[in-house]
Amino acid sequence: MIPELFRDIPRELIDRFEQTVPAAIAFPPAVNGHRLTASQYGESLRGLRDLDQEPVGLYVHIPFCPVRCLYCACHTTVTHDAEKIDQYLDDLAREMDLVADGLGRGRALSHLHLGGGTPNYLSDSQLIRLIDLVESHFRLDAATVTSIECNPKRASAGQLELLRALGFKHLSLGIQELDPAVQRAIGRIHSSDLIRDVCATARAAGFEGITLDLVYGLPNQSEAGFRHTLEQVVAIAPDRVRCYSYSHRPAARPHQYAIDPGSLPTPAEKLALLYQAVRTFTDSGYRWIGVDCFARDGDTLAEAQLTRRLCHTGIGYTSTPIKHLVACGVSSLGEVDGAFVQNETGIGAWRQALAEGRFPISWGHKMSESDRRRHDALRHLMCHLELPASLARGLEEDYERLGRYAELGLMEVGPDRLRVTPRGRYFLRSLCTQHAVSVAWSSNQWGVPRIA
Ligand code: SF4
Repeated sequence: MIPELFRDIPRELIDRFEQTVPAAIAFPPAVNGHRLTASQYGESLRGLRDLDQEPVGLYVHIPFCPVRCLYCACHTTVTHDAEKIDQYLDDLAREMDLVADGLGRGRALSHLHLGGGTPNYLSDSQLIRLIDLVESHFRLDAATVTSIECNPKRASAGQLELLRALGFKHLSLGIQELDPAVQRAIGRIHSSDLIRDVCATARAAGFEGITLDLVYGLPNQSEAGFRHTLEQVVAIAPDRVRCYSYSHRPAARPHQYAIDPGSLPTPAEKLALLYQAVRTFTDSGYRWIGVDCFARDGDTLAEAQLTRRLCHTGIGYTSTPIKHLVACGVSSLGEVDGAFVQNETGIGAWRQALAEGRFPISWGHKMSESDRRRHDALRHLMCHLELPASLARGLEEDYERLGRYAELGLMEVGPDRLRVTPRGRYFLRSLCTQHAVSVAWSSNQWGVPRIA
């Protein structure tokens, strides 16, 4: 049932908001732009040598999983061939050589994040080798925020101890849903007991932060089932929870055709699921952070939001700034000195570029001054839930259009800024996507609704 908070919003508008929005917000959206060449990317990296005080983060993508979940939206390959993963590490070493040649070997990292795919699908020796690679090209120190995404089913006590010994402090576990009917429909089955045990083992091993990832909008998901999942998650008491919207795009991800579209919640039902998550977590001592994250009171993200230091990049919300995000591995998305780059999404093309000694980027976009203003405005909106008029210079049309959402109670128009209202926050992802797309690219590839 649609929560009271949204009753007077036209259902047709809710439908259009939810139908077309991608799961993650990237600016500019990841489409083939070809506006930045590989050699220009190299120059951008070299330019950072003189900016040695600016924090640089590193994202490494591990594109391997033992099985394919039906809802998956990630760039990953199913393999059971350890040699294939060893070869991938060989190629990652080449890519890190190229990056370190530009950036300067031994550049300190503010953040290191391993994502995938399933990073903890790697064997112990492969994980050790991967961290050796990182440490031989970059510098990790006590202040580096280190995190890794893990599949709980593969996170043994021995592996967690190894990951901690290798320097990882934050663990991110993909839970998605605990309702068995949903788990069967998405091909990802694990019990809440397993999650509880993995979290307890991780804490005993010394992990400083545990994030559980949930997804709403999945097949067979119901308010009753999701309520039980939320209760179990609260009982496990993670430090953070991320709650992603499922994006059903089988034409782009053919494995999603195995999901019966008739089993998916309607957009209004999805909104009700998000509402349920927000109510449950905020009633249980968590703060709602930005668009899709919850953090326990006292967590560094919660503190960062209170003190307005919250930052958002390709690896999500962070409590300390990442001015530049260098990305390595197939399909990884980076942001360096005002340029966005994405690596080749196919292993073959990525490897071929590296064999030829080229940066393996498939597209890149150097932000213009106008892009940069839009980028800063959107980040501010996503982190601080407001848009000061001073940040919208040159974006007057967008500012005015956003302000018109006040008619629906989604925005509040003040004398010098727009503020996102409590109910506008539920639509912030859609609003940001709309404005990320509207000027930087001539066509609105997602057809995101415009009501004003
Ligand atoms: S574990 Fe994650 S990356 Fe791998 S198939 Fe499942 S959803 Fe995709």
